[in-house]
Amino acid sequence: MSSQAQKGFGMYEVAARLQQSGADVIHLEVGRPSSDTPVHIKEAAKAALDAGVVHYGELQGLEPLREALAKRYVDLYGVNYSADEILITNGVTQASFATFLATVDEGDEVIVLDPYYPQHNSKITLAGGKIVPVPLRPVHGIYRLDAGVVEDAVTSATKVIVLINPSNPAGTVFTRDELQQLAEIAEHHDLLVLSDEVYEFITFDEHRHVAFASLPGMKERTVTVSAFTKAYAMDGWRVGYAAAPEPLIKELRRITMNSTTHPCVFAQEGALVAVTAPQDCVTRMVTEDKRRRDLVIESLNAIPGVSCARPQGTIYAFPDISRLNVKADELAKRILSEAHVAVESGSFYSSRGKNHLRICFGSEPYERVAEAMERLRRYLGNGAGN
Ligand code: PLP
Repeated sequence: MSSQAQKGFGMYEVAARLQQSGADVIHLEVGRPSSDTPVHIKEAAKAALDAGVVHYGELQGLEPLREALAKRYVDLYGVNYSADEILITNGVTQASFATFLATVDEGDEVIVLDPYYPQHNSKITLAGGKIVPVPLRPVHGIYRLDAGVVEDAVTSATKVIVLINPSNPAGTVFTRDELQQLAEIAEHHDLLVLSDEVYEFITFDEHRHVAFASLPGMKERTVTVSAFTKAYAMDGWRVGYAAAPEPLIKELRRITMNSTTHPCVFAQEGALVAVTAPQDCVTRMVTEDKRRRDLVIESLNAIPGVSCARPQGTIYAFPDISRLNVKADELAKRILSEAHVAVESGSFYSSRGKNHLRICFGSEPYERVAEAMERLRRYLGNGAGN
């Protein structure tokens, strides 16, 4: 594992050790939904187990699940994926791993929008690729795409652009215009786009997700990866998918079938019900996420020296702490040891991240998030960050 990836798990481990020693630690570091998986999804998996769904399944994943996902892509986004263009994977993690392994060769350059999701970077490196971070541009605190800067970073070695939309850690929901500009670059330079849409259903206010593959000409050059992880609180189930043109899906399948065969069969039965049943559970979770987002943003902005734009989607706040005059790594450590609140340092997510923390507001119930904000107010409000 790269040292960067290890660092990310490091905060969780340090916080867990502190908790084992008896401290009341509030976990705002891990991007893990606090809700339980909705009951109807659990019941479907239990029923499948009871019905003897316990044997090997299809290598590409359960066909009714792939069909249901294909139908959803048409219904929601107007993208005509067929069931054969979808591969069920062990979460986005396996989908993106297979994509990088299948498409990136030694020395190929991969553009990642900075701030980035570092777990993709370690996979790119493993595949032999070179990471080219391209800064997003803060506009009123929201990190936006600057197409000119992306285009300037393209060289003859560029193979893939990684898009995370909505963005972890920045919380940006990219507009159709921004995505269209990226599409033009991909088309002009004949690039593949890995579009990580794991937060596609977690958007707030007027912001709506646009599937990158729905833009004209983009289905052919996009691998869309998503999962049940966040919106259905199914992170431990390990069910996700990749959607792409069939020849590429076959390449990805060669990798997944040789590593895990296929995801757990009864977990896929639960995922099938997640897609086909009414989506009220998602609406409820997003409403609760929005309540916690508003609390966190108001609380952070009330702390002298901290400013935080309102994330448009995801479960993360990315406050700017530059006016506290302490590096993010050091501040995250101090907040954990003094206030017993675990947050991530922004340096894990960006070369410029020393000015930011990443705070997950979806990983603890509302009351615990409120308690964490109160502890931050007390600790940082007293100038303890300095
Ligand atoms: N992609 C992004 C942007 C994420 O934030 C996460 C988890 O935090 C993942 C992928 C991992 O998804 P999964 O658990 O489905 O592998």
